[in-house]
Amino acid sequence: MTSAVETVKGPVAIESLGVTLPHEHIFLREPEVEANYPNSHWDEAAKIDQAVAALDQVKAMGVDTLVDLTVLGLGRDISLVQKVAARTDINICVATGSYTFNQLPTHFELRGPGRLVDMPRDPLETCFINDITVGIAGTGVKAAMIKVATDSYGITPDVARVLRAAAVAHRETGVTITTHTHAEDFTGRDQQAFLKAEGVPLDRVVIGHSGDSTDVNYLRELMDNGSTIGLDRFGAEILMSDEARIEVLLRLIELGYSDRLTLSHDAFIYSANLPDEFVAEKLPKWKFTHLFTHIVPALYERGVSEETIRVMTVDNPARMLRRVQHGGAFGLN
Ligand SMILES: [Zn+2]
Repeated sequence: MTSAVETVKGPVAIESLGVTLPHEHIFLREPEVEANYPNSHWDEAAKIDQAVAALDQVKAMGVDTLVDLTVLGLGRDISLVQKVAARTDINICVATGSYTFNQLPTHFELRGPGRLVDMPRDPLETCFINDITVGIAGTGVKAAMIKVATDSYGITPDVARVLRAAAVAHRETGVTITTHTHAEDFTGRDQQAFLKAEGVPLDRVVIGHSGDSTDVNYLRELMDNGSTIGLDRFGAEILMSDEARIEVLLRLIELGYSDRLTLSHDAFIYSANLPDEFVAEKLPKWKFTHLFTHIVPALYERGVSEETIRVMTVDNPARMLRRVQHGGAFGLN
């Protein structure tokens, strides 16, 4: 086990991560669309100011670390995140990986073993590992998690390629895999089967967006298989009400699963995909502070102990941000 976790401003001791939001986004960009069909609501200076203010606010509420899971496919731009990090004290961890629902960009379609641009190794593996061990896009900022997605399309050939590359990157670096799922289609189950077959210990996987499901049996199955799950869309009431999310959470705590649950929002400061006005009108609670202004107080009211809150908001994210050491390059433990 190594005890430091990479953040935008360099490694920090795992013990100092404190209360952590493990599944959030700062800026979700769509560079090609934005460049060609200018999107009136992107204003870099204003958005950086807004991000700094929001992060300072959540830091003042006792949150010490936020994990930005914005990867390829979501418009990751580490230079922008660095500009934000420079002006706030909160730790910001970033991720490598690919948010691919169906098909990878043509750039990757054409490259790899046996492809038109024949390469000895899948470039996705090289990208993921480089982001973790060398740094992202020449910034020296290292990824602290590997993010993958399996949506309603299921494990398409390209999604399989991403998952396989993530598994290789995990085995080589010991960095945790964290996922996007479509809970309605139980795609966390598919991810577990695939990653397990690829040699990833399931206790090094966080099955994300599990909080979009009220199927307690499905959620228990994911955790009984060893994974931690993300109840990571509090405030996204367009998908499910907070009341329903809280009821599932309480049930899982009661069943003894608090050591496998993480809490977050999947919120963002800017998304090229959703206009600011839409978010303000339809998703008014969807912000980094919502857990602490509404959800945690509601949990205390329902009798959840301070200790259980600490396990879910401090211990569990820290465990998942910890890099494990596998025995040898491809060894498993
Ligand atoms: Zn997300």
